Amino acid sequence: MAYRKFRGTKLFTGKSWAPEDSVLITLPGGQVEAIVPASEAGEDIQAIEGILSPGFINAHCHLELSHMKSQIPPHTGMVPFLLRVMTNRQAAIETIQESIYLADQQMQKEGIVAVADICNTLHSLETKKSSPLQYHSFVEVSGFIGNTAQNRFDQGRAAWEKFREFGPASIVPHAPYSVSPELFRLINEFDPGCLLSMHNQESKAENDFFLTGQSALRDLYTAIGVNIGFFQPPQTTSLQAVLPYMNPANKLILVHNVLTSMDDLVCLEKHPVADTYFCVCPGANQYINQSMPPRFLLDDQVEKIVIGTDSLASNYQLSITEELKLLADFYPEIPMSHLLQWATMNGAMALNMDKKLGSFEKGKTPGVIALNNWQVTRLL
Ligand SMILES: [Zn+2]
Repeated sequence: MAYRKFRGTKLFTGKSWAPEDSVLITLPGGQVEAIVPASEAGEDIQAIEGILSPGFINAHCHLELSHMKSQIPPHTGMVPFLLRVMTNRQAAIETIQESIYLADQQMQKEGIVAVADICNTLHSLETKKSSPLQYHSFVEVSGFIGNTAQNRFDQGRAAWEKFREFGPASIVPHAPYSVSPELFRLINEFDPGCLLSMHNQESKAENDFFLTGQSALRDLYTAIGVNIGFFQPPQTTSLQAVLPYMNPANKLILVHNVLTSMDDLVCLEKHPVADTYFCVCPGANQYINQSMPPRFLLDDQVEKIVIGTDSLASNYQLSITEELKLLADFYPEIPMSHLLQWATMNGAMALNMDKKLGSFEKGKTPGVIALNNWQVTRLL
């Protein structure tokens, strides 16, 4: 059998650096066979400039917003951004689907092998049917008014039925400020133990909504004609306000976490959700709010941080490399091994794809990429 043998400047296994002079050996199709010292690897070793790494996992994306690239200017702030997405997302179906197809292609070139993708429509279905990328589709539901909950949930369920034919799928809450307790209950009862994802503490407006009630999010509801006069702020952060509604049996990816505090993490320990990951999307945070995920979270949750690109409505590209570069520029003390672990093994664990992806362990097919001066090359 013709093995493939790769020797890079360094080799990251998905969990740590391999010893210097290690060679990665795979089967022709990319299945990992072994990591061995160069002296034992035999002939035909391909020398690669750069770090060898398993393929990247994009833990938060909205493929269906790809046609909105460059439509919303940067730095609008959260609420104007959300309003622009709501009012501008319509387009010809051909335009939407072509943009989704091209975004999927771009992610393949960027060395991404799996994607957690938020769905409010069925638009991404066609691309997902034939893409070599592994997708987990998160069918997102929202509705802050309790008596709309059943209707919203049923719509989500109908979409979920379609997506799960082509890969893992879940019905998930949009965000603390947009989901009623009744809708949380329907989500929790539907598939206990499943993987959920929720936008969390992306902006100060979100926390203020729950802490004081004085928040630009009220303007959002006014603008879309929804009367939330019933809402009494619970005087806690948004995450703390909704933790009691979460099903402790579920696995959860909290997305953004820009305003998450140590106090929030303490509360998360008191209301434990089975397994919680924190997805950071620095590119989108910079684009919308000129903010960054907090350093303490990155230090405190090394084993639970994952990386997302968010959508092309709020980012210039769908590239995990660019997200890592932003983190490295902003927080130069973060070790490269942490950045790579977040983009590989942690992402695979979060998406329940670690049996196949995330690390160079015998039998897995995680993809092989080379990272050289923040340029990615896909080798397998
Ligand atoms: Zn998002």
